[in-house]
Amino acid sequence: MKAVVWAGRNRLEVQDVPDPRILNARDAIVRVTSTAICGSDLHLVDGYIPTVKKGDVLGHEFMGEVVEAGPGVRDLRPGDRVVVPFPIACGACFACEDGLYSLCENSNPNAGMAEKLMGHAPAGIFGYSHMLGGFPGGQAEYVRVPFADVGPVKVDDDLTDEQVLFLSDIFPTGFMGAEMCDIKPGQTIAIWGAGPVGQLAAASAFLLGADRVIVIDRYPYRLERARRTGAEILDYGEVNVLDALRDMTGGRGPDACIDAVGMEAHHPTPAMYAYDRTKQAARMETERPYALREAIMACRNGGVVSVIGVYGGFVDKFPMGTVMNRSLTIRTGQCHVQRYTEPLLGRIRAGEIDPSFVISHRMPLSEAPHAFDLFKHKQDECNKVVLTP
Ligand SMILES: [Zn+2]
Ligand SMILES: [Zn+2]
Repeated sequence: MKAVVWAGRNRLEVQDVPDPRILNARDAIVRVTSTAICGSDLHLVDGYIPTVKKGDVLGHEFMGEVVEAGPGVRDLRPGDRVVVPFPIACGACFACEDGLYSLCENSNPNAGMAEKLMGHAPAGIFGYSHMLGGFPGGQAEYVRVPFADVGPVKVDDDLTDEQVLFLSDIFPTGFMGAEMCDIKPGQTIAIWGAGPVGQLAAASAFLLGADRVIVIDRYPYRLERARRTGAEILDYGEVNVLDALRDMTGGRGPDACIDAVGMEAHHPTPAMYAYDRTKQAARMETERPYALREAIMACRNGGVVSVIGVYGGFVDKFPMGTVMNRSLTIRTGQCHVQRYTEPLLGRIRAGEIDPSFVISHRMPLSEAPHAFDLFKHKQDECNKVVLTP
């Protein structure tokens, strides 16, 4: 089959790789009908997530048709149309029983690798490094889906792929980012990053009752898409974000701040950006955490900082003093997607939201390397790419 393969730092290729097959009783094989490129894939492509190897198949946002199900898969039959959550979860361990699916204790066969870096291991994730299980991803014609009786959510034919594909990651991720803010009526939520996750976090914050949402970015086409959710926008190339947010909130600051940027943030102040960029390039820190630092500084006293942007290792110059002295709460996590698929599918079906508004490009899987280039370099107003095998 054809698949998108990591061939070295900033080198992707569409290659022929072996077809996946059933290895365990609870596996299913899914023929992919739609798959997407995610901002977090970019951290893999440029080599900032450790333990990615040449030949690894990328992709963790995909859906398709079940073509084979192992004997332990109760609910799925060949022919079923499913969206597959990006974290792999057994459904029965301590973490899964608590709804913490991205922390499943049974789905990461390389837990020891992750323990060395992180202390304890999170769940396995499709197409997201060997430390997170080494599972071939969904930017491919076929995928092996472990624990197929737990993750995949069945969808009816009256909804299009584009309406439901993002239940695999970015809609639940944006929604969880907003949910972690404990939004109360009248509140103002600020979001760093007007990419697809930031846009869906903004839409989700309104669904959860936010009065105002303010989205921060520097690309006009991304800010415009965020504005269409009803959000106010700030271009950090034009304004001092901390001053602007203070002015917009009567001097107090936003009630909660969402970091939807993660480890490769840009920075309006050349000196600080150069500091992080240099240390990251020399592999002396893994992150450029500018958005996170600013979100912490901007948040009102006693507020919540919700981190859904991806981080891989260690953050430098972390403003712990302001977190402690101003009673901030930091909440974060890889999304526990399985917890959200059914309720969010319900919201899509009810017409409350159509997440396909984030899509800017539709391309064949064979053009994935070009699609990654457009997305990474923000060319052609590339916001979100859907690939079809
Ligand atoms: Zn993703
Ligand atoms: Zn589990």
